[in-house]
Amino acid sequence: MNKILLLVYTAIFCQSLASAAQLAVATNQSVEETTNIAYQLSFPNFNHHELEVILWITNLKPGPLQLRMSRASAGRYGTHEFAKNMYNLQAFDVVRNTVTLTKKQAGYLIDNFQTSKKLTTKQIEADVYEIAQHGDKVKIQYTLYGHTIDGTYLGIDETHAHINMPATILWAIGLEKEPIQIRFELPINVDWEIATQLKPISDSTMVSYWAPNLTYLMDSPVELSQHKSISIAWGKRKSTQTLTLVSHSNDDDTTLINYFNQIKQIVAEQEVIFGELPKFDYGTYTFIQDIGSDTQIDGMSHRNSAVITSNIDGLSHQNNKSLLEIVAHEFFHIWNGARIKPKSLEPFHLEKTSLCSELWFSEGFTQYYGDLTLARVGIFSQEDYLKKMSTMLSEVLGSPGAKIYSPEQMSRYAAFADTGVGGSTNTNQVNIYTSYHYYGAIIALALDLRLRTEFKLDLDGYLKHLWKRYGKTKNAYTSDDLQLTLAAYTHNAKFAHEFFKNYIWGTQKNDYDKLLSRVGLKLTKANTDKAWLGTLKFNFTKTQTTVVSNALFGQPIYKTGIDIGDTILSIDGIEIKDAAVYEDILAQRKPGDELSIMYNHRGQKKMANLFLDEDPTLKIVSFEELKLPITEKMKTFRTEWLASKVVAKNQQ
Ligand SMILES: [Zn+2]
Repeated sequence: MNKILLLVYTAIFCQSLASAAQLAVATNQSVEETTNIAYQLSFPNFNHHELEVILWITNLKPGPLQLRMSRASAGRYGTHEFAKNMYNLQAFDVVRNTVTLTKKQAGYLIDNFQTSKKLTTKQIEADVYEIAQHGDKVKIQYTLYGHTIDGTYLGIDETHAHINMPATILWAIGLEKEPIQIRFELPINVDWEIATQLKPISDSTMVSYWAPNLTYLMDSPVELSQHKSISIAWGKRKSTQTLTLVSHSNDDDTTLINYFNQIKQIVAEQEVIFGELPKFDYGTYTFIQDIGSDTQIDGMSHRNSAVITSNIDGLSHQNNKSLLEIVAHEFFHIWNGARIKPKSLEPFHLEKTSLCSELWFSEGFTQYYGDLTLARVGIFSQEDYLKKMSTMLSEVLGSPGAKIYSPEQMSRYAAFADTGVGGSTNTNQVNIYTSYHYYGAIIALALDLRLRTEFKLDLDGYLKHLWKRYGKTKNAYTSDDLQLTLAAYTHNAKFAHEFFKNYIWGTQKNDYDKLLSRVGLKLTKANTDKAWLGTLKFNFTKTQTTVVSNALFGQPIYKTGIDIGDTILSIDGIEIKDAAVYEDILAQRKPGDELSIMYNHRGQKKMANLFLDEDPTLKIVSFEELKLPITEKMKTFRTEWLASKVVAKNQQ
């Protein structure tokens, strides 16, 4: 592999004075860069989190023009009312193309009020506006408020503009297939640079970009900030592509280089699984990273870039595991998700939820490989990795929702569970839902162990098969296709059929202890003999202890009828003042002991009795630790599963 490390500092910065006419129809540029749609984004009030957008549309046909803000964002499965942050919408007929700019105006709104006629805009839906009468060229402008730094929304302040397009772009209905120009007017007196997967317009000053259509623009996040970037040429000579890390964080060069080296390990490890990286558009893949104390923990994968956001305190090896977990997950999506795609998400709807039954695979298998990659490159120790898998197994196997809903059905609940308008407030999600990420990940674990121990195959090979059949060929898949590919890969249609019937379309669970024992691991209770009344959450304050979550079906506390919103007065006569008192009472009890709880329900004092259970939390422990006999075969299976494929390949 020919790898060259280039450290590029924030330096390229230039501002030009472009006229409105150049923006809208760049007739002197190449055909692909000539567009009828152009956006211009500027930041005159970034201190107050505002972004100004101007949209120019030319060659418009007569008839009503409808403009929409998105309600959904690809990669998120819930809806978001992005229009809630839009205001000051105005529209004008453009009657004169050329605008003379004064120096004072440079970098701010290019305005031609005097030369335009104001048009009437009518709000016909919460997020749709109509302009009934207009000429063939219009200018639309609006203000957006953005104060959320994550993979979905918009974050504007004096340090940066972190832009996710669905939260930003008002678009013309019916013109979605048209190519688009987008131009960023950088504020004066800041040293911002632009990071994006969008193609820069060749003869521009690196502030104008081009997208072949609306879908592509919406898939292209942009970070404008004083950031550092590192690039590397990746691959053999003919297929060399560039991998770039753009990091808006407070790290020194050495820390950043060390961190990028870890990313390179992740990329190499995942590349071996598929045998190749996808061909990135314009030959570049960019990790767009934003780290800050007011930043959300999030990751969002796109075709040729990923947004990684976190509030961790710097990128040093001590605290970057959680971030690299996001990196490994999002990078795996460049195959599974961005290119091996479920048919149900084609096309992705911007104005409503896209219902998908295959998130157990596109998200869950990606979850599995994100963690497995970190184990294979050694960022996770075996202990770290087994702890991760234990958490997922505990969560899913203990979930009442996973007992009644199959992974397919659970995937469809993403419409409500994937943070958006609804969220989890006042729902019964604890009883009807479990994460499709975890649900899918434990299925991947079972399938991987079965393929290894029953077929002398592995999940890596199955994924590679899917890449060839559905990723490279750009054929979206259905869950039937996933089953048929498993049948072809294993040459065992019966196995594939039963696996899908029981564990994907049905609610049966694999025997995890049995499967893990084949690699010398045991699935056991984490806290033997620890008394437990259920997974209820409390809010402890100085004056009272309030129940803040619904009880889970079947657990001891569920049977008492104690409800969300009730306050706990005492347990076995002891007043509950804080978490320590509560933990102490449980620590002194044994499973099977009876407990009496005094509580207040809507102003009424009540008493309930329950019998404690044993804490059902699970953990995976090695046979070595348990001093159980372990065979060479078990050890080999485990090594082949968890050891680096890159190292194995280099040793061949
Ligand atoms: Zn994901």
